[in-house]
Amino acid sequence: MMKKHTDIHNLNRRDALKLAGIGSAAVLFGSEEAEASVGSLQKKPSKTKPLRIVIIGGGMAGTTLAYRLRRAITWPEITVFEPLRTSAWYQPGLTMVGTGIWCEQQLEYKRKAFIPEGVRWIESAVVSIDTDLNRVKDENGNETEYDYLIIASGAVLDYAAIEGLEGEIASLEMLEKKASWMDDPAIGSIYYFHGAAQLHERFTALVQKAVGLSDDEKLSILFTQENIHIKSPGAALSALFTLIRKLKDAGVRHKAEITLNAGDGRLSANDTYDSLYKKILKREGVFFESERLMNVDTAIKAVNFTNQKSMGYDFLHITPSMHTGRLFTQSGLTDKDGWIDVEERTLQHRHFKNIFAVGDAAGTSALKTGAAIVDQVKTVVDTIRAIDEGKKPDVTYDGYGCDTVLCVKKKSVLFEAYDKKKKPLALVEFMNPLECHDIYWYLNSRMLKPYVMYGVMKGWA
Ligand SMILES: Cc1cc2nc3c(=O)[nH]c(=O)nc-3n(C[C@H](O)[C@H](O)[C@H](O)COP(=O)(O)OP(=O)(O)OC[C@H]3O[C@@H](n4cnc5c(N)ncnc54)[C@H](O)[C@@H]3O)c2cc1C
Repeated sequence: MMKKHTDIHNLNRRDALKLAGIGSAAVLFGSEEAEASVGSLQKKPSKTKPLRIVIIGGGMAGTTLAYRLRRAITWPEITVFEPLRTSAWYQPGLTMVGTGIWCEQQLEYKRKAFIPEGVRWIESAVVSIDTDLNRVKDENGNETEYDYLIIASGAVLDYAAIEGLEGEIASLEMLEKKASWMDDPAIGSIYYFHGAAQLHERFTALVQKAVGLSDDEKLSILFTQENIHIKSPGAALSALFTLIRKLKDAGVRHKAEITLNAGDGRLSANDTYDSLYKKILKREGVFFESERLMNVDTAIKAVNFTNQKSMGYDFLHITPSMHTGRLFTQSGLTDKDGWIDVEERTLQHRHFKNIFAVGDAAGTSALKTGAAIVDQVKTVVDTIRAIDEGKKPDVTYDGYGCDTVLCVKKKSVLFEAYDKKKKPLALVEFMNPLECHDIYWYLNSRMLKPYVMYGVMKGWA
């Protein structure tokens, strides 16, 4: 036993990778794919060189990865590409901004405080990936080679897929040039930074407008959602439930006809939560339909759906379809839905064995949430470390994620989470996971932000 252990440690990285990669790949990643794994891993340097790891994206997943890899790998050379220069952001807080509870500044942290020592931070976006030569090119034209590439680039919001709108943007992108619809007071979307910041004002104006209507007039309010494979579907529900509460508080709920139109008919990928949300909609008098939004005519405030149905609106909230973006599709890395094509449990790319994905970019069936990141990052870090140390990787991701929904009742929150068998999970034991709780409000508004920013992202949680 002892000898074997020593032998493994004396292997150069290439041999160790071969030993662990081939042996375990056959078990862990399937035998056909094991061949591909040998091909890419044979290019590894010997132990006379550091292990070169490139991370695309320094959001929640990329930062957490960088901190954990830095501690886990014996001799790493980690490079993180992230174009957002000055700030790191607490993205789950966009819901609190959108519903007027927090302001934008409460989400902003100094980027410098989130760069682990010894990690090279390149303030530039990756613009191309050469999977044959194992290298990426950034906006400045510089090329960086990698032994492992980890994609943590989050989700792109594809507003341009809806005729009449433009824009393919990342949530926290500080838009230099806004699309014209973004300044339209009759349109809102909680999913991007400026959209969340504007939403509260738009809701306030809408409630005032309802107050000014006569009793036989009604506002037409429309929420649309492309499909359920998006990050935090609960954010759109939070916006809807908050608006209902604001209308109720002002005594004008009866002056608004609200319709939610979900393209795939789903409000959660989990059947239990899906029917729970639909029951809440019924209770709150919200019409539910399942057609895809085809186009928006902002000049006449009207939309068309796939079933040819047209509707006028006084206010339209849009949840667009999401994917990883053109760079990754053009590089042959995405699945049919536009997410990085990884194996669910290992987060390893199905064809390129030295490529992994974590966070929103990963094509898994998990709830795309920050809560999924801890376990995903641990899986990838432990896998790379095991291979690097000549051991068999044995950690797998079980698909956990958890989303926040602000309830219609003031200062009350529901956490959507479920286990592998789709059974709803309570965050605090003995509490009903299908109910809104006031104590969850305090967890969400007081504790989660420091926990995520200093616990999760710094790699301690
Ligand atoms: C409104 C809203 C509410 C949410 N609520 C919750 C919640 O309650 N609970 C929860 O757990 N999660 C929630 N989330 C989801 C959570 O914020 C995300 O799941 C999490 O931020 C994903 O992290 P990520 O690192 O994968 O992506 P991001 O944090 O989006 O980071 C991706 C990073 O990659 C960078 N990038 C993109 N392309 C490139 C490139 N080509 N080169 C270099 N860098 C690139 C981007 O600039 C960005 O900084 C919410 C999200 C939103 C929008």
